[in-house]
This record gives sequence, structure tokens and C-alpha cells, in this order.
Amino acid sequence: MGCRPGQAWNASPHQFSFGAPVKAMAATLTTAFSLFRFSRVLRAYAIPKPFSKLSIDVLRAPSYSLRPERCVCHITASVNEEASAKAAAASVDNGGPTIFDKIIAREIPSTIIYEDDKVLAFRDINPQAPVHVLLIPKFRDGLTQLGKAESRHAEILGHLLYAAKVVAEKEGIVDGFRVVINNGPEACQSVYHLHLHILGGRQMKWPPG
Ligand code: 5GP
Repeated sequence: MGCRPGQAWNASPHQFSFGAPVKAMAATLTTAFSLFRFSRVLRAYAIPKPFSKLSIDVLRAPSYSLRPERCVCHITASVNEEASAKAAAASVDNGGPTIFDKIIAREIPSTIIYEDDKVLAFRDINPQAPVHVLLIPKFRDGLTQLGKAESRHAEILGHLLYAAKVVAEKEGIVDGFRVVINNGPEACQSVYHLHLHILGGRQMKWPPG
């Protein structure tokens, strides 16, 4: 009895009866290993059992572990943000007018949410949440940043916090919102006129970036 296609050359007559299934298995494995080269998903099934758990864990890992280019983009963005914050600190932290003075003077447009005689609230041009409002004192009085506060500023600082709550109410987020003050280059402050970020409308995470 000779070897038929798909049968092992040294197979015993007993094994010949499994020729078709063996052939089918071989074809399946060949297909699986061919696909293995192109598909991450199939790796979990094609890899031998002792390694399959590891492979599935890798597949379930956050996408940045499979896509290093995303990490690179994120790091690049962070570095750019830090660099521009440092540049802003070096060039603007001199008490000179900022973009916010132009907003107060209505020299450039903004969407104003709230205003009284001491503070102005307007939407951030680059929102980080569905609600992102900036709240500033109209009279800066040396408050380029919170770190420059003196005892005479206590009243306006308290007023800003109360106004933040009023803005949150107006925006419908009073039950869950975040108030952020970036102070100095290490906190990526980019405009040197004290301002509160009022953020809400989505689930906030902790710790912040
Ligand atoms: P910082 O980085 O200093 O904490 O925040 C400054 C904020 O001002 C940033 O979120 C930025 O998007 C916002 N911003 C900068 N320029 C303008 C502008 O011309 N109009 C408005 N509405 N927001 C601005």
C-alpha cells in the first residue's frame, strides 16, 4: 500500500484511516499560521497553549502598548506644551497686557458667560471638556499668577471662587465640576493674568495629567 497524498510516508495502516482529518488539520494550521503573520487577533489562537494567555493579555493591554507611535505623539504634545509654557513665562510674566486684557476690553471676541464689576467669565477657545469656562479678575492688580497673591488679594480671590460656583450653576454643572488654576511654567500656565478654569460636563479623572 503506497502513500496517498496527505498521508505520512511512514504511517501505519491504522493511521491511514485518519488521513483526511490529518490533512484537514494540516491545512487549517497552515492557514492559521499564514494569517498569524498578518493579524494580531489571530495570534491569540495560533500561539501554542502555554503562551496563549500571555498573548491574550497583550491583546487586551491599552492600545499604547501595541502602538508605540501613539506614545510618541503624546510625549511630543506634552513636550511642546511645556516648551510653550516656559516661553510664555519668560516673555509674558512681566506684568504687561495679555490676550485677556483684550478680551476684557472687547478688542477681541469671546463668548461671555458671566460678568460683574470685578470678574469676567468666558468660554475657553480650546475647550478640554464640554463645559470649559475661564474666569478672570477684570483688574489684574499684580495677579499674573496665584503664586503672586498677597493679603490684599484675599477679597478678589474669594470672589473668584464664589463666581466659579455661579458660573457652574449657569452652565448646569454645579453638581460636578472642577476648578483649576495653573501656576507657572511647571503647571503649564500660558497666560499671565490669573484665571480659573471651570471644567465640567464629563467624568473627570484623577490624578490629572
Ligand atoms: P493656562 O494654560 O494659562 O492655564 O490657560 C490659558 C487658557 O487660555 C488656555 O486654556 C487657552 O485655551 C485659553 N486661551 C488662550 N487664548 C485665548 C483666546 O484668545 N480666547 C479664549 N477664549 N481663550 C484663550
